[in-house]
Amino acid sequence: MSEMTLVSMEMCQNGNTAYIGGYRQNHVNSIGGRSRCTCKGFYFHRNCKHLRAARELMCGYHEQLDGAPVKRGICPKCGGRTKTVLVGV
Ligand SMILES: [Zn+2]
Ligand SMILES: [Zn+2]
Repeated sequence: MSEMTLVSMEMCQNGNTAYIGGYRQNHVNSIGGRSRCTCKGFYFHRNCKHLRAARELMCGYHEQLDGAPVKRGICPKCGGRTKTVLVGV
């Protein structure tokens, strides 16, 4: 019987959703997570200029990927606020 432990981790608030050119991009910050956009280009090609632009803009810090923050609640990458999420390990 395998057990999964839920631990609370922090991720940057500036890293989930962006609006570029009137389209919404969702960026899921987790291992194996992927980004998506609501435009037709993404629907057909699984990639678009909005996502590329959004990746430049967004921070994307996640404790599981980037290590624990120096100060709880503050993103070590962009200095913005973080939120706590539960991650199974
Ligand atoms: Zn797009
Ligand atoms: Zn950040």
